[in-house]
Amino acid sequence: MSCNIIAIANQKGGVGKTTTCANLGIGLAQEGQKVLLVDCDPQGSLTISLGNPMPDQLPETISTVLTKVINDASIKAREGLLEHSEGVDLLPANIELAGLEVSLVNTMSRERILKEYLDSVKSKYDYILLDCMPSLGMLTINTLTAADSVLIPVQAQYLPAKGLEQLLQTINKVRKQLNPKLKIDGILLTMVDSRTNDAKEISQLLRETYGGKLKVFDSVIPHSVRAAEIASYGKSIYAHDPKGKVASAYHALTKEVLKLETKRQKSKSDLIR
Ligand code: ATP
Ligand code: MG
Repeated sequence: MSCNIIAIANQKGGVGKTTTCANLGIGLAQEGQKVLLVDCDPQGSLTISLGNPMPDQLPETISTVLTKVINDASIKAREGLLEHSEGVDLLPANIELAGLEVSLVNTMSRERILKEYLDSVKSKYDYILLDCMPSLGMLTINTLTAADSVLIPVQAQYLPAKGLEQLLQTINKVRKQLNPKLKIDGILLTMVDSRTNDAKEISQLLRETYGGKLKVFDSVIPHSVRAAEIASYGKSIYAHDPKGKVASAYHALTKEVLKLETKRQKSKSDLIR
């Protein structure tokens, strides 16, 4: 199987991007996939939530390798990568990435720096998940340029009308100018509180609004304090609360994501035949 690169993106903050990146990634690893998680946010939330509470003290991060790409310097095998005990590799980030984003303005092929790096490591992985920052700036454009597809977490209680439109417009622009093959895997409803939101109703509404053009994942992620706790433990929800509803929701999402790939492989081989 070839490598699937998935950007987990939404410029709205706090919608569950990082939580989804960590738990979908570790979920895929539990299903036997080789997984790299890339922290593309200078806040370093993914880095922290995978057990590195002081990202600013890490000697090597995504900034190290991207700077080397920019300077055409060679990157050592596994440079910058950390191993997480639950079976995924992590390319961490810290505040240096904010400076790097600014300096990209004056860089040749500035939208393709991350892609160039990922091209050099992707043969080693089945899945690479990119945890985007909450903006549509140059770093996020880099993730959309490098990705095969986008997964969009949306917080159920704030149905985003404008925000989502803006993200879809950006995706379309990237398709036109930088990455024609970019697909949208779908919208993932997160932090669903069954007492106040009816997930089915919201999914239905989203499907109607986007004319069936956008998939909404069948799996929805429930709201649970257990999910909010994991960042401070450095573990996945499967390790922290294995029998809980959020663990089973992320497990179901993992299966859905794997199925997407099987479908794509099948339609490819149908085309060849
Ligand atoms: P940012 O835009 O800042 O990068 P994000 O989109 O990555 O945010 P997260 O950091 O994953 O979002 O989640 C935002 C907050 O909500 C965090 O405190 C997280 O622990 C919490 N959270 C995530 N998922 C759930 C859930 N299913 N139930 C309850 N709380 C959650
Ligand atoms: Mg985040």
